[in-house]
Amino acid sequence: MTPDDAKVLWAKVQANSKALEACAKPHVFVSITPERKLGGRWRCTLCGGEVEQLHRYWYERGLAHGRAAALRKVREAFVKAYQGGALSQSDLLDAIDSVKP
Ligand SMILES: [Zn+2]
Repeated sequence: MTPDDAKVLWAKVQANSKALEACAKPHVFVSITPERKLGGRWRCTLCGGEVEQLHRYWYERGLAHGRAAALRKVREAFVKAYQGGALSQSDLLDAIDSVKP
């Protein structure tokens, strides 16, 4: 790799990071290397940014964990509303049922 090659590569890395950071999010990654079972590459359909398979995996896991935590908080708020008399038991069950993951 020549110094010029390195500069081009570095510019691509920076442009990719900039696209990913500027994305409306959450990223919607699709495989751009479906022929590869390991070490694939994924591109966001919103921003065009690309990530390696392992980074995409942990990104998706983080989203799932965050969504689960948010749902727990919503359910806890519904239970508090029920305990405070703001919701009937039937409304509580409907409310909890409405926030399924
Ligand atoms: Zn994106």
